[in-house]
Amino acid sequence: MLEVKQMVAGYGRLTALKGVDITVKEGEVVFVVGPNGAGKSTLLKTISGLMTPTAGEIRFQGDRIDGRGPETLCRRGLALIPEGRHIFKTLTVQENLQVGAMIRKDSADVRSDMEMVLDTFPILRERFKGVAGYLSGGEQQQLAIARSILQRPALLMIDEPSLGLAPLVIDQVYDSLRKLNETGLTLLIVEQSTGRVMELASRIYVLRNGKVVLEGDREELTDTSALDAAYFGFS
Ligand code: ATP
Repeated sequence: MLEVKQMVAGYGRLTALKGVDITVKEGEVVFVVGPNGAGKSTLLKTISGLMTPTAGEIRFQGDRIDGRGPETLCRRGLALIPEGRHIFKTLTVQENLQVGAMIRKDSADVRSDMEMVLDTFPILRERFKGVAGYLSGGEQQQLAIARSILQRPALLMIDEPSLGLAPLVIDQVYDSLRKLNETGLTLLIVEQSTGRVMELASRIYVLRNGKVVLEGDREELTDTSALDAAYFGFS
């Protein structure tokens, strides 16, 4: 579904990604983990069209997409939840969800998808008319995910979904991601820590200093010491 080949991207003279290869197949949950400054956010920003790579190529559903803008890619089915969630805090939960569905014209399907996300995230049904800024961090993360689902993406990318959340709340967020994946949604998730990724991952990439230093299917990485060694840069 998504193929990133030898991608180079950066900020002026700083090269944040130095020839990165990543593949996401339909139905998978792919994690990219790595320490601070590894280039994880840059990777998602480049795939989603917010940044243009300086070399390499990105293919989505068979077509070259590098250099296309974020609106075009959003319409093609790529959705990104950036770090920090960026929900509209002064709008209600309902209004935030309606924004997610704004690009769609199939209003009957939007209504049934709205029911589906409210079933998946019952707290959002409870707080439907409430102002989003009053939700807890975990509830805001669930709202951000629900809003993206209403865009009906083929691939949902999430930058650090567990950032700043308590372990129990991370459980809830991961549970909902698992349920969404079971309905067929393909996920590409960036996390700073390797702690939780095994429970959900089909495949894991470790990124360090802009390079993939380890990749493997979940079954190949059951020995977490290899994962930790790659993460911390021990050889
Ligand atoms: P974190 O886990 O801390 O979010 P990350 O793996 O997502 O880190 P990036 O945010 O992609 O890392 O940053 C990769 C490199 O690019 C870092 O050296 C960072 O300082 C630099 N960088 C990121 N954003 C910018 C920017 N807007 N301008 C200049 N340099 C940037």
